[in-house]
Amino acid sequence: MRTLTDPTLLRTQSLINGQFIGEATTAVLNPANGELIAKVPHHGAAEATEAVAAAQAAFHPWAARTAKDRGATLRKWFELIIANRDDLATILTSEQGKPFAEALGEIDYAASYVEFYAEEAKRIAGELLPAHRADARIMVLRQPIGVVAAITPWNFPAAMITRKVGPALAAGCTVVLKPAPETPLTAFALAELAQRAGFPAGTLNVITGDAIAIGGVLTSHPKVRLVSFTGSTNVGRILMGQAAGTVKKVALELGGNAPFIVFEDADLDAAVDGAILSKFRNMGQTCVCTNRIYVQDKVHDAFVAKLIERVRALQVGDGFADGVVQGPLITEEAVAKVQSHVADALAKGARVELGGKRHGLGQTFFEPTVLTGVNATMLVANEETFGPLAPVFRFTEEDEVIAAANDTETGLAAYFYTQNVSRMFSVMERLEYGMVGVNTGVISTELAPFGGVKQSGNSREGSHHGILEFTELKYTCVGLI
Ligand code: ADP
Repeated sequence: MRTLTDPTLLRTQSLINGQFIGEATTAVLNPANGELIAKVPHHGAAEATEAVAAAQAAFHPWAARTAKDRGATLRKWFELIIANRDDLATILTSEQGKPFAEALGEIDYAASYVEFYAEEAKRIAGELLPAHRADARIMVLRQPIGVVAAITPWNFPAAMITRKVGPALAAGCTVVLKPAPETPLTAFALAELAQRAGFPAGTLNVITGDAIAIGGVLTSHPKVRLVSFTGSTNVGRILMGQAAGTVKKVALELGGNAPFIVFEDADLDAAVDGAILSKFRNMGQTCVCTNRIYVQDKVHDAFVAKLIERVRALQVGDGFADGVVQGPLITEEAVAKVQSHVADALAKGARVELGGKRHGLGQTFFEPTVLTGVNATMLVANEETFGPLAPVFRFTEEDEVIAAANDTETGLAAYFYTQNVSRMFSVMERLEYGMVGVNTGVISTELAPFGGVKQSGNSREGSHHGILEFTELKYTCVGLI
């Protein structure tokens, strides 16, 4: 791995109760070249139980601090993340593969959640409601929910952590975090900086190892009050089921199948820009990445021609190389999924306009791909590809494309391009999605509530809404005697 300015950020042990512990045995590999970066512990149920106990012990003292005090510690953490952004991005690109410029962008984005919730800690307010009797008062408190379990994916190794941990800690909760096995080093580096920022022992615990064993404890331990998960819909379903035993709150951010609709009255150049950003960011490996591109008849061919030209220019390579905007996919399985989607589409009559196969660089590199002649019977229409594959569907009527866009069990992000104001409102309102981008392909920000409907999830992260997930209401009826 490239040398770090501060090599002590490369932590390779779990953080439990303020101590980095455990023998590092499980390899973390660089997806661009297969090199071993470091090893991390293979912890299980025993260490997960210890981590929950540490978080439970830290909970009351942390919750009892003033919001201003908690916010100040978060602010310090934010400043340390920014001060170490180059090293954090280096670790991130090494274990995840995304281009270094994108990794820097992710570190800034991750830090923005810590900054925002450092401020927001002070704005969790209760209410005094009109009472039902003259001799009573209704007081409503918002209190931290308790110990939070956070389970995060590899596609945003930093941001998926801070947007859970930031608001949780700000609200007065303590956390046990299980990062993805592919990208634990970014999580440990963030934990090291949290230590330096002054979070008390046990406030934030980070543990790597056996996902099923750790997940089993985190979803069944009576002291864990909320399980916050970002990942696949299948695993989300499993965790939700497991959490039922102790009636925990479950906050889920799951998969998507984002439609990207280009109407004939769209600004086509802007639409192509948006399609490139929303489809090929992180090599197509984000849950809000465009999965299906629908283009209206009249502008179909012009849009496809412009799209192909732009996709052809995308430079593929090691994320540390100059000019590279497409790194490797995360694993062999990820490549196999893209290949199976291409093969299925071709067998059912689609055409490869560009790419369609593994890249000459080997490893898990895949050629940025454009398919046309795509229809609803194909896998690309029904499953999240999670790779650099842009399938283009042709449509004629507005009603037809809205029905197609909504014809999925998921409902995370949708995008459309139009310059007609009436259409903007009517289409936006009819799309069954938690988030809609109109004339833009990039929607993520700490200032907005991120989340999905249907089987894409049941919670929101970001904005003032995001912190409320980590609180509970307590109603107190005060009798005036
Ligand atoms: P992806 O396909 O993005 O890897 P997953 O849903 O498999 O998505 O993984 C997201 C996170 O969930 C990772 O941290 C992974 O280790 C964890 N995970 C996977 N299966 C389980 C499980 N049965 N219990 C707890 N965590 C799990």
